[in-house]
Amino acid sequence: MKHANFIGGQWVAAVSGATDEVLAPATGEVITSVPSSDAADIDAAVSAARAAFAEWGTSTPRARSEALLALADRIEDHLDELKSIEMANVGKPLSIIDFEFDLTVDNLRFFAGAARTMETQAAGEYMEDHTSMLRRDPLGVVAGIAPWNYPLNMAVWKFGPALAAGNTFILKPSELTPLSALRLAELTEGILPAGVFNVVTGQGETAGDAIVRHPGIAMLSLTGDVNTGKLIARNAADTLKRVHLELGGKAPVVVFDDADVDAVVACLAETAYYNSGQDCTAPCRVIAGPKIYDALVSGLEAAVSALITGSPEDEATNVGPVISAGQQARVAGMVSRAVEAGAQVVIGGSTIERPGYFYAPTVIAAPAQDSELVQREVFGPVISVQRFADEAQALAWANDVDYGLAASVWTSDVGRAMRMSRSMMFGTVWVNNHIPIISEMPHGGFKNSGYGKDMSRYALEEYTELKHVMIKH
Ligand code: NAD
Repeated sequence: MKHANFIGGQWVAAVSGATDEVLAPATGEVITSVPSSDAADIDAAVSAARAAFAEWGTSTPRARSEALLALADRIEDHLDELKSIEMANVGKPLSIIDFEFDLTVDNLRFFAGAARTMETQAAGEYMEDHTSMLRRDPLGVVAGIAPWNYPLNMAVWKFGPALAAGNTFILKPSELTPLSALRLAELTEGILPAGVFNVVTGQGETAGDAIVRHPGIAMLSLTGDVNTGKLIARNAADTLKRVHLELGGKAPVVVFDDADVDAVVACLAETAYYNSGQDCTAPCRVIAGPKIYDALVSGLEAAVSALITGSPEDEATNVGPVISAGQQARVAGMVSRAVEAGAQVVIGGSTIERPGYFYAPTVIAAPAQDSELVQREVFGPVISVQRFADEAQALAWANDVDYGLAASVWTSDVGRAMRMSRSMMFGTVWVNNHIPIISEMPHGGFKNSGYGKDMSRYALEEYTELKHVMIKH
């Protein structure tokens, strides 16, 4: 695999010559190094993407669709290799990685199909002697700034709709996990014309910031932290580029007394610790009814104690490392402050002493609603459980966070499920399940979880400009 920027179909070092080391979180060892790019490299990528836009932006939807389908097939042909890259660079266990890659390929095939199905209001004579018609035109050069938790999948969520709609694209992967993006760039060779898809690696404050401020970029899509989103929205204001923000989450899991407790426990034991809890929709904030609370806590204790934390390559491993030493320290700090404030450790609650960055799967009981553990995203293998008194309090607690990405409600009462899903202020509400996502349905936040939708035809529309053409007869 090449460890260089991919700009205009060429593999190039950063103009400055600087590089960043890339680490393996399961060992803490250096895997390799990649360009540490800055404004000069972003400028070169914008020029290449602009030049490629002339042809790609006027190609037929069928041609774009066929290219994206060919790329999806090529990714599928290289899945084992891509999984190995992501296992080493992100620490994802072998046991969980298939689901993510199956979704990634399906997401790309969905956007390939969607390229041919764009819709608008019917053309017509809405004013006498004039015909009005609507177009959905591409924006031009679009950039995606990706996080480290699902590097390849988040890349597809951004370049899939962007390219399907006729834009050309610059991807800046996370500085922690750039390797699958570089392999992806190699896989595009011979399928996408030079300059249609570019990858520039580097830090957020340099390469990322240069994207945010570049006047030649029409739209930027970030998946990342809430504070990064706020900073980017401010810094992008001078160029008035369109900004699409998929930010953090703090998903409540509201469990009523009439829920199937075994189903809740089984779902949480799997999904709350999936990807070491580094998932923006992870079910991390359990709000349980007064009667079901005790059974739920003891069920979770038993289920979580059976989880195996260890090396990503080991087939038995359920939970791998967190991404970095900094993330490990953040998780440990949040848990210890919760305990100092009076919450109880049901299970876990400590780092695991071994090379790499591991934290034990953890359940914390009875943190206060206004505590840091309930209010802030941990992004680690930690869930909290609170006991509510009645439906009104359950709803109030569920909504009482700055985030609004995803939530679930568990009950056998259909009317209550409907009431709760209407009133919960989250972009996705699951009933009697938590986590599944599908290409056809949108994913995105309310409140501080950002704005803009990923996946679905609604995402495709966001990567286009609606234009009114009015013809006088
Ligand atoms: P992060 O905000 O630290 O980094 C995300 C990206 O932004 C990286 O590529 C980084 O280099 C870049 N960046 C950082 N500062 C920048 C700046 N000043 N200008 C331009 N770019 C900058 O986030 P992370 O730690 O990589 O990812 C974890 C976060 O992502 C969590 O908060 C998680 O909830 C969120 N996330 C959200 C979703 C979603 O769909 N809503 C999905 C996955 C992850």
